[in-house]
Amino acid sequence: MKDFLDTILNIVFPVNCISCKEKGSLLCIKCLASSPEAERESALWIFPLFDYRHPPLKKAIWLLKYKGKRKLADIFAEVMYARILEELADLSMMENFREPVLIPIPLAPKRYRERGFNQATLLCKALMELDKNENFKLEKNILIKPKDTEHQARIEDRSKRLKNIIGSFLVKNPQTIKDKNIILIDDVTTTGATLAEAKKTLKSAGARKVIAFTVAH
Ligand SMILES: [Zn+2]
Repeated sequence: MKDFLDTILNIVFPVNCISCKEKGSLLCIKCLASSPEAERESALWIFPLFDYRHPPLKKAIWLLKYKGKRKLADIFAEVMYARILEELADLSMMENFREPVLIPIPLAPKRYRERGFNQATLLCKALMELDKNENFKLEKNILIKPKDTEHQARIEDRSKRLKNIIGSFLVKNPQTIKDKNIILIDDVTTTGATLAEAKKTLKSAGARKVIAFTVAH
């Protein structure tokens, strides 16, 4: 039904790829897959896919987050899914990283109300659709961000950014993630401070090992 509606909508309101102008999707899978890889340094447990400075990618992420172009999450997830499986093949063997649980980086309540959705949760749901419960589970209400904090991107000073994020996450029902391997999902990582704080919170709640995937860095 969803596909049928999409087809109809595409006939009535055709969209074009912001990069190659091809009809069908706001960013086509070809243009996404050929985007420059993230190459700036990030922590070893963080796996960003693409370079955020690449204009079509930056625009696509903006369209998803601020314009609610949710279908972009499906396209990002396609590339992310392949990458996760690649890494899992190694990690399950080398680090006994098995039966992982996907956890989206949560939004604070105010931001969630403003936006009406969490882009990281949309990515997780799209990943689950591709995975069909083969490799991982989704826990979308375990890690929460109970208080409204200032928007990280608006704070220029690095130490203030860190202070802003420290203690901002909480784990509901820690028994759900006890001794579990966790894959954190987010759209963008900048300094890695948000992911690091989420990892710390999950670890102190009993998680075994935590890694993260993001669309861009
Ligand atoms: Zn394209």
